Amino acid sequence: MTILYAIRCANGHEFEAADPGPGTYGDFVMYGDNIAAGPAYLVAIDDPVFAEVRKLLLELPGVAAMSDMERADLVQAIFGVACDPAPNRSSYRIGFPPCPSCGTRHFKTWAFARKYEGPLLSITHKTWNSASRDQKLAWLHAAQAQLTP
Ligand SMILES: [Zn+2]
Repeated sequence: MTILYAIRCANGHEFEAADPGPGTYGDFVMYGDNIAAGPAYLVAIDDPVFAEVRKLLLELPGVAAMSDMERADLVQAIFGVACDPAPNRSSYRIGFPPCPSCGTRHFKTWAFARKYEGPLLSITHKTWNSASRDQKLAWLHAAQAQLTP
């Protein structure tokens, strides 16, 4: 069941965004660069690209030495590079979208609001699947480098 969270950003704006409900380990909701570019639903354990990304990541600097938890965070942070873009051409990203009022991704609180009844887009990997292994590694490397600590 996909649910809507009532979110308050670090600057005090309130908005709602979708997320998989409790007990949906391995499921994720992804948004593009704004709340209108989503939500899309990802069942990671059924997606061979998710497993592929996890494996390729081990070849990036520092990743082999990370804990399982750190690696899980990293794959969630950069998995969007392996996904075709959202309908507005922005890149998908796992988790809540940026605040529609101020654009921050820092959220102060989030709480269950209600069941999400709207449409859910599908995640596809056409561009990724047609790329070479070296290209995929380059994309992952670039995405890793862009993460802010
Ligand atoms: Zn805000």
